[in-house]
Amino acid sequence: LARKWEAENVVNTICSNCGTGCNIRAYVQNNRLTRVESVVTDPNNGSLCIKGRFGNTYVDSTDRLLYPMMKRGDEFVPVTWDKALDIISSKLSSIKEEFGPDAIAGVASAKSTNEESYLFQKFMRTAIGTNNIDSSTRLCDIPSAKALEEAFGCGAMTNSITELEYADCILVIGSNTTASHPVVAQYIKKAVRQHGADLIVIDPKEIELTKWATKWIRPKNGSDLAVINGMMNVIKESGLEDQEFIDSKTEGYADFIDSLSEYTPEKVSEMSEVPVEELEETAKLFAGAEKSSIVFATGMTQQENGTDNVRALANLSLMTGNIGKESTGLNQLQGQNNIQGINDMGALPDHLPGYINISKQEVLSTFSNKWDIKLPEEPGLTLIDMMDEAAAGNLKSMIVMGSNLLLSEPNRVKTEMALDNLDFLVVVDPFMTETAEKADLILPAAISLEKEGTFTNTERRIQKLSQAMNKPGKVKADWEIIAAMSKALGYPLNYNAPENIMDEIASVTPLYRGVSYRKLGLEGIQWPIKDGFEGTPYLYKDRFLTENGKAKFKTVNYKEPEVQPTKDFPYLLLTGRSLFHVRTGSMTRKSEVLKAQVNTAYLEINPEDAERLDISDNEDIKVSSKIGEIVVKAKLSHKVKPGSVFLPIHFSESAANKLTDVKFDKKSGTPALKRAICQVEKISEE
Ligand code: SF4
Repeated sequence: LARKWEAENVVNTICSNCGTGCNIRAYVQNNRLTRVESVVTDPNNGSLCIKGRFGNTYVDSTDRLLYPMMKRGDEFVPVTWDKALDIISSKLSSIKEEFGPDAIAGVASAKSTNEESYLFQKFMRTAIGTNNIDSSTRLCDIPSAKALEEAFGCGAMTNSITELEYADCILVIGSNTTASHPVVAQYIKKAVRQHGADLIVIDPKEIELTKWATKWIRPKNGSDLAVINGMMNVIKESGLEDQEFIDSKTEGYADFIDSLSEYTPEKVSEMSEVPVEELEETAKLFAGAEKSSIVFATGMTQQENGTDNVRALANLSLMTGNIGKESTGLNQLQGQNNIQGINDMGALPDHLPGYINISKQEVLSTFSNKWDIKLPEEPGLTLIDMMDEAAAGNLKSMIVMGSNLLLSEPNRVKTEMALDNLDFLVVVDPFMTETAEKADLILPAAISLEKEGTFTNTERRIQKLSQAMNKPGKVKADWEIIAAMSKALGYPLNYNAPENIMDEIASVTPLYRGVSYRKLGLEGIQWPIKDGFEGTPYLYKDRFLTENGKAKFKTVNYKEPEVQPTKDFPYLLLTGRSLFHVRTGSMTRKSEVLKAQVNTAYLEINPEDAERLDISDNEDIKVSSKIGEIVVKAKLSHKVKPGSVFLPIHFSESAANKLTDVKFDKKSGTPALKRAICQVEKISEE
């Protein structure tokens, strides 16, 4: 940490390493980031994790891309922006002419600002003329958005991060909160330590929060829905449901409650391996508390039944009246920093900004009039469909903003084939990623410390970024790149600054009505925004956002996951995050401090399995699946049950997606990345 007084520039802005959206104060000297401190405002109130405090130094990495580059043979050669834009114009125009606009697709980035995401979806729908736009939210958050919209009328996190501190009971399910959202975990710990809250952790794997838990139940992997339904059966049988809330605020309860008769504690115990008494005690703890809150993440959504998992949690919160009140609700923690914003901005194949379904003709016409162009009417391809269509040769070109698809998509072999098949791939990124290496053209992008704009964090908080550093070389911000591409294609998107884009967003997106840079203070504001520029810390105080104002119960039944261990691949492969890195590690692995903590992949394996396989701690071992194999260090750990192994997702050399050939949640198109199968072997010495 450099001395504060030596800094030439001190700027309050937002950490972009996870969906918590912590406020940071950046100190800059000679255009280098020399120190980061916390700021005492919501949502973090003085806290930062290691990634926020020390990890943002990737902005100064010597590996930054500094100018546009085009592929010539097997090499990349630098080109001017004019040349790069000429290439884009001629290639995309000819693909459009020969194959139609739907032969082109765009992948938006959850690292882009709201303004950039808005502009990118507008660019794809106007300058290109297709709804083929999606993002990495398809890989994580879409099941929550769908399930919660159906239940409550809105797909977003219902309450606020800081409210967790005052919950009487917190259920954490499918979230390794300390690793993925460390600052959120601090509020949970404060609730337990300072206010005596009960913490329930439901997770087959031991996580740091299990040490703080009143109850930790460890169901069979993939059986969460049976456990939740079982808890609700116990709640009903114990008379702990909130009948007054159910009668006045919900509908569909009678049919739903009948379906729970299948989920007696004894039957659920068989399905989930959770002892009957544990299930009963857990259910009573949750339903007996005055304010119970649910925290979940990709452990619930990246399953074959991800949407139903979230739907079951919605039923639980409704049945116990734990919604529409402070310190209750369903709190999904989004991994990347602007997942909420990218969805709000309509970077989705079937929704315009503000979640307006493109099937609504009158709204589509309004947007067509505003943007002065006839908009495409058919829903576009999801990210997963794009890969299928590219692999089949039907998709000819992709523009990928800040996404390392080659590591983040479920099946590496198929993704590689899909990208290789494209006639023209444009990648916009601050770094040379594995995906950028496949590109025909790479455009160098700014990092959040180098730009203005807004992010919307996991709790719907619209937050203002401020530029702390100058962009290096010929780097441009995403919004400048999109505007330049659009102009090159003959549909100029003319904006002087991100502020003007936000003004347009506020005028076309009801959720952002009234938002302007002038009004956004350090704390930002949580949508929906009321008169007088007042935010909404928790939703549904008076009514739900469904047409009749009532929330909807829905029956969701448990089915055994299709992917099961086999003779050839007898281990369940669990994937997840480390505290020290973000997603594919393309940025955090450029930070010396974070690299010093962890910079190689490891496979957690139970000592019982390791002994049977004659594997020692830290030994190189082979892990294989139907689609590939990797070599990785063994880490003996009781955190995983015998028969399960755990691999972090951040390391390209031992990438999880070289192994994960998975099923999908059919309701959302989200891959069940939390459930794959593999073989683990000792590497023989000859
Ligand atoms: Fe940044 Fe997330 Fe850590 Fe906060 S919790 S400092 S947003 S990485």
